[in-house]
Amino acid sequence: MSILIISDIHANLAALEAVIDAAGPVDAIWNLGDTIGYGPYPGQCLEAMSALQPDVMLLGNHDAAAVGLLRLDEFNPIARAATMWTTSQLNDEQRNQVASLPLRATIDGCLCVHGSPRQPIWEYLYSAAVSRANFEVFDEAVCFLGHTHVQLWITEDMAEAGTDPRLASGGESIHLAQGRFIINPGSVGQPRDGNPDAAFALFDPDLGVVTFRRVAYDIARTQTAMHEAGLPLPLITRLSAGV
Ligand code: ZN
Repeated sequence: MSILIISDIHANLAALEAVIDAAGPVDAIWNLGDTIGYGPYPGQCLEAMSALQPDVMLLGNHDAAAVGLLRLDEFNPIARAATMWTTSQLNDEQRNQVASLPLRATIDGCLCVHGSPRQPIWEYLYSAAVSRANFEVFDEAVCFLGHTHVQLWITEDMAEAGTDPRLASGGESIHLAQGRFIINPGSVGQPRDGNPDAAFALFDPDLGVVTFRRVAYDIARTQTAMHEAGLPLPLITRLSAGV
């Protein structure tokens, strides 16, 4: 059994298509949120996700802001400008689709959230201390989350010992046999770990193995569409650098 775990697509259809191709046939898709925002293809990414029929599709902070569930003054000016453009691109059906997305999902013994178990929309999980506090508020053996746009993982034992989450490299596999885990598959559409390739993870619950993956995609295609849409330049250039 193979489950594709994705997060932070951020309206980057070229990256999403590359990930779907690279993942090959899968039995399920879990999408941890921020399907839209920043990128030039919000409607197309929502349509693509609907066609893929994910078993999990969560609400991220950018999704929430685009449909008026989050105040725009919580965002920096660049994110705010991109959000206002995103909002203008959605039809009523897409707005309703996004507004009805859940903040968390429990599936196959795993918890899925966008930011963190205790603050699903807002909290960034980078440190041992934040991980430790979050291990206390969920019971499942594994929590998958996104939001930081960085592939990483941490066990409960590491968090209690004060060891920060480990950055994962593409191709690395972790075995879930012992302990409890928090795992971030990275970002499909706006990686921030210095590697511009789209990030995702494959989870085999029968074997208890999660594999972190990267795939190159047509960054120029997304950047050209962003220029045409008039999206802020820093959002366009950062894709080349993966920051
Ligand atoms: Zn995001």
